[in-house]
Amino acid sequence: MSEVTVMGLGEMGSAIARAFIDKGLKTTLWNRTKSKASNLIERGAIYAETPGQALKMSPVTVICLSSYEDTNHILKDLSPGELEGKTIIQLTSGIPSDVRKLSNLMDGFGAKYLDGAILAWPRQMGTDEAVICLSGSSQVLKGNEDTLKKLATLNYVGEDISKASALFSAVLGYLSYHWIGFCHGVRICESEGIDVSLYGKVISELAPVLGVDSVHMSKVISEGKFHNPESTLKTAGTDIIRLVDHAKDTGLSLEMAEFAARIFKRGIDQGHGAEEHAAIIKVMV
Ligand code: NDP
Repeated sequence: MSEVTVMGLGEMGSAIARAFIDKGLKTTLWNRTKSKASNLIERGAIYAETPGQALKMSPVTVICLSSYEDTNHILKDLSPGELEGKTIIQLTSGIPSDVRKLSNLMDGFGAKYLDGAILAWPRQMGTDEAVICLSGSSQVLKGNEDTLKKLATLNYVGEDISKASALFSAVLGYLSYHWIGFCHGVRICESEGIDVSLYGKVISELAPVLGVDSVHMSKVISEGKFHNPESTLKTAGTDIIRLVDHAKDTGLSLEMAEFAARIFKRGIDQGHGAEEHAAIIKVMV
């Protein structure tokens, strides 16, 4: 028997397994492609040939696959007895409806279920830099806290099983524009002959300010207090709308500049120009 099973040995699953093994947990592994387990077996892990055997080996199984569909596909073929009384911690990313479906499946199997969303890169797993948002029964979390703390700092979102995944979706909504926005800036640098690494450094120096702005915006929006701006929606919007002219000057695609400009222009046109920049939320449904 082992203390924990890890199912899924992609980039993230392997990092999870490595963190458990390096921190002294007796770990069983299963992956569709067995060869990915070789290094981890050399580090002391046990390999199980089937998902059923892998689950049997430990009281708790951490799953990290590409999608909930993959997880359902693997678990639904097990006989009910194989999951009864076991704890499943799903760290695969998904959306709340995926989580609720899996939760129903787990209830039917008599298994305990925690759902988590990883906010980290694989290389951060097992360090103070990694965060995992978790939701589900606080009792089940209590019983598995020591194991999960070997991976990351835990951010418990509540008993509602789908909340961690909902929060992850919100974070992903933000990150999608971070990645696209960063590359939009790269294109502007290239069009003006600016070294992209200088741009990366400037954004990194700005990162703490953006952290403060996130807290500020969430406070302004949740309290509905948009009337005391340090920077108005019109000031920010005018700067952003000007990027359309810059794209025209340099021959860059107008797609990104026009997208952002359209939303800010709507904010100004609908009379929110004198309010906080966070008032842009008022024209986003
Ligand atoms: P990878 O593509 O590296 O690994 C995918 C894993 O899923 C592999 O173990 C693969 O098995 C398995 N898999 C895929 N399809 C099936 C299937 N039909 N049946 C059985 N197994 C299957 O992805 P990551 O490890 O990077 O990501 C895994 C999860 O972690 C995702 O939900 C991702 O969103 C999340 N995550 C990843 C982060 C990252 O930076 N990588 C950051 C935060 C979250 P096989 O090896 O056989 O192909």
